[in-house]
Amino acid sequence: MTNHLISRILPADRDPDRPCIICQNGRRYSYGEVVRWSRRYAAALRAAGVTVGDRVAAQVEKSPEALFLYLGSVRAGAIFLPLNTAYTPSEIGYFLGDAEPAMFVADPAKLELLRPVAAQNGVGRTETLGADGSGSLPDLVAAAQADAPDAARSADDLAAILYTSGTTGRSKGAMLSHGNLLSNAEALLPTWGFTGEDVLIHALPIFHTHGLFVATNLVLLSGASMIFQPKFDAAGVIEAMAGATVLMGVPTFYTRLLDQPGLDRAATERMRLFISGSAPLLAETHRAFAERTGHAILERYGMTETNMNTSNPLVGARVPGSVGFPLPGVDLRICDQDTGKELPTGEIGVIEVRGPNVFSGYWRMPEKTRSEFRPDGFFITGDLGRIDEHGYVWILGRGKDLVITGGYNVYPKEIELEIDAIPGVVESAVIGVPHPDFGEAVVAVVVPERGADISEGDIAEALRPRLANYKLPKRVVMVDELPRNTMAKVQKNILRDSYRDILAEAPTR
Ligand code: AMP
Repeated sequence: MTNHLISRILPADRDPDRPCIICQNGRRYSYGEVVRWSRRYAAALRAAGVTVGDRVAAQVEKSPEALFLYLGSVRAGAIFLPLNTAYTPSEIGYFLGDAEPAMFVADPAKLELLRPVAAQNGVGRTETLGADGSGSLPDLVAAAQADAPDAARSADDLAAILYTSGTTGRSKGAMLSHGNLLSNAEALLPTWGFTGEDVLIHALPIFHTHGLFVATNLVLLSGASMIFQPKFDAAGVIEAMAGATVLMGVPTFYTRLLDQPGLDRAATERMRLFISGSAPLLAETHRAFAERTGHAILERYGMTETNMNTSNPLVGARVPGSVGFPLPGVDLRICDQDTGKELPTGEIGVIEVRGPNVFSGYWRMPEKTRSEFRPDGFFITGDLGRIDEHGYVWILGRGKDLVITGGYNVYPKEIELEIDAIPGVVESAVIGVPHPDFGEAVVAVVVPERGADISEGDIAEALRPRLANYKLPKRVVMVDELPRNTMAKVQKNILRDSYRDILAEAPTR
């Protein structure tokens, strides 16, 4: 038996001279070097006592070495556990205690704070890896002999655990197998037309499924190369476009690119594809980007637990606001949230998915896992959506964001789309806040355009003829920006906390 994932994304017959990782500081790694380095990382892990099935946790800055650590862990048969660089030591303590890794790799700058946390949580070994590729782990790598073959791993064996962002309750570790990751990269390859000629601008973090799996596994599988940027910088991305073909981003990448005067047809001439996901892309952003560059952004939908589920087409209409069609091999249906009964075309319900992309469960949470799968194997995503008569999937927000006011369901997305269409509005977030009569009441948090002369009253006025009474916001709050996490998701839990008493306050007009 081979190593299911590695044998396909880094096959033995790949031309070793082909460029793989191109760094901004001029460093380049060919496929041959990526193979050699990832083997040496695997050897170092083995020499440090990491065995098949062990977890290797890492909270490290983005670097080629961090990718070698991911690939080396998978080669060694370990389960890679990347952690958001924003997590505090107490959050890290929870993950280490829950996952019980054999090794924790930390940023050298945070070692002093994190070593005791790791020790308290029973982690035997803590090593370091810095953004510049130095640290105690690279020292072990330098001394390691890469002479052992890759650990034999089947499609069902785990390759990674990724903790969900956990906006409600405890963060859960999604167990992802070799088969989950490989099948998804294989589905995306024809869907997005990736070839060895592609050059991806990689400006996403690599502790999340988007930058680590969607971007990296697909580049490796297709033999393409990636321009590796430590973090998103709009001007740097535009500069890189001259030597690239594809950009994968979250919606904020695109709004920030649109703020750059340098974004135009000439700058994007060589690019063949702009992809967006992880959070909803405003239809307005889609249109503005098309107007400026001539490119229709391709929006797709996925989640940590399922990898990618749907995508707008490469050839055919990329519909703004929609997330396109289910990927090859992915079954997707819309069901009644309570009864689980499949709903007819066009009706709104919870999105459920089944396929080789779908994770096997939450780490050490068998009951939570059972409650989120249907008996026929469909995973209940918790996203609300519908499928239109042309087969396009539309997302209407997270189920838990649904507002129930006076017994009526209000889908925040519907109200947000109406508000966003009002001249002078950049974007909005609609939430439910406690209300003595209705249980919950609709509140809109709105970001106006800079310098726009628009008031709470103007928004209320514009919405009145367009929405049923119960859907109208009881209050509209103007803010400079919405709170977002690192993957550009609006943090509605923060908004709900901030504005839970707003109805008791006098409106400001
Ligand atoms: P994560 O597990 O952090 O990737 O978050 C997954 C969630 O992000 C999904 O369940 C959706 O709620 C949301 N999401 C991902 N892609 C999109 C998209 N294109 N449009 C709207 N929501 C999205």
